Amino acid sequence: MPDRFDYANAPTRPRQVYWAATTRHDPLFPPLKADLDIDVAIIGGGFTGLAAAWHLMKAGRRCVVLEANQVGWGASGRNGGMAVPRYKLTFPELERKYGRDTALLMHRIAHEGLDTLERIVIDSKLACGFKRHGHLTPIQNAVDVARFEADVRWLAEHAGDAAPRMLDAGETAARLGTGFYRAAYFEPRGGGIHPLEYCQALAAVLAVRGMHIHCATPVQSWRATADEVLLQTAHGRVKARELIIATNAYSDLTASGNALKRRVVPVASALIATAPLPEPLRASLMAKGNLATDAKRLTNYYRLMPDGRFVFGGRGGASTRAGDGVYRRLARDMAHIFPALAEAPIEHRWYGLVAATLDFLPRIGRLGPRVAYAMGYNGRGVALAALLGGRLAGMTMQQNVNLGPISEGAFAPIPFHALRVPAKQVAISWMQLRDRLGL
Ligand SMILES: Cc1cc2nc3c(=O)[nH]c(=O)nc-3n(C[C@H](O)[C@H](O)[C@H](O)COP(=O)(O)OP(=O)(O)OC[C@H]3O[C@@H](n4cnc5c(N)ncnc54)[C@H](O)[C@@H]3O)c2cc1C
Repeated sequence: MPDRFDYANAPTRPRQVYWAATTRHDPLFPPLKADLDIDVAIIGGGFTGLAAAWHLMKAGRRCVVLEANQVGWGASGRNGGMAVPRYKLTFPELERKYGRDTALLMHRIAHEGLDTLERIVIDSKLACGFKRHGHLTPIQNAVDVARFEADVRWLAEHAGDAAPRMLDAGETAARLGTGFYRAAYFEPRGGGIHPLEYCQALAAVLAVRGMHIHCATPVQSWRATADEVLLQTAHGRVKARELIIATNAYSDLTASGNALKRRVVPVASALIATAPLPEPLRASLMAKGNLATDAKRLTNYYRLMPDGRFVFGGRGGASTRAGDGVYRRLARDMAHIFPALAEAPIEHRWYGLVAATLDFLPRIGRLGPRVAYAMGYNGRGVALAALLGGRLAGMTMQQNVNLGPISEGAFAPIPFHALRVPAKQVAISWMQLRDRLGL
């Protein structure tokens, strides 16, 4: 039987993806082989596209998901699976940039995203390991301690949200199993999933409920007229009343993503997973079952899986590929933070593309009256895509979306996009230096 995850064009060898090796589902969705006339066409079978399809299903609309590879093949089947109700910027930083009302709106959106993810999982009984494990942001330097203390104060004072709290060095060490950090920000509501299982289980439910899911079906082009949108694939044309584009950092797979691909910068993020750790070591790490994403500009994120493997992620390099050097550096970083893992064999290594925006915020919008998109999650799409998928579904039913700066303002192509790789290298070196100096 052919390996369904082994594609000639895959930018990584997904057999090495821990999630692909451990998923309990492996649904097979056939390519589109005939023409189709439908309410809504969705390009992209990741978190965004599948969440949009789920909300459309709930609204009784007919839709088709067209996926170039397999469901969860993009970032959605490769990520850390951490559903964190925060952004890269702290809430006081969001207030300084956009004002108090918008910062409060962003707070509501972050939690609504996580709640929506949970609702989809529970409502559709998705076996994907979803749990509110609690999420830590471990902090190394005094400047970041002050930033996150201000965040905790701001949330309590302005949002009436007293749930997040700071942990001192002792409690941080006890929860993580390392004395590497001086403090941590603790968000007890943060959740985790097996991201590929979530995609596959969700797609299977959608198919059973009559939504069309076609994999190995790249959309080559689309064209919107006043009344409909026409999509071209290799073996069938789709005529739809509305189109949702959910291709995020993989918008350059075909020419159909031309209108969006220069609005985000694809950045590689890479992960490694150890062999199952021996019992005493396992018990000493992540003692309370929390997930973690540290506070550095170039973050490391990690979690202990139920099978005893330690999954550790971080920056994938300046290009859109991750080579041996990236994985060696990740293993070194892991051993630096967790010296007990220095000898742990690495059994999985993989990477995916994060869609970065210039202001660290995602975007939802329109390319015309019948075409909507959402993208640019900046590594925070596990929860947010569930929400934006719902809003995309609403847009196809002519509902207004008001998500502050996420849904308004200019989201133009990035100037000099072609120079993004050298520019990214400079930016990465600068962020590395600031992380090292604790600035
Ligand atoms: C390594 C890594 C770690 C991450 N960790 C986290 C984390 O812990 N927490 C968090 O919140 N976020 C994380 N993220 C971000 C998160 O994974 C993404 O925000 C999210 O998966 C985006 O989902 P999506 O559906 O919009 O895009 P994707 O999942 O990338 O899906 C896009 C899909 O579109 C398809 N496609 C593209 N072009 C076409 C075409 N022409 N025709 C048909 N199909 C097409 C692609 O094949 C792909 O499957 C991480 C990302 C990466 C890469």
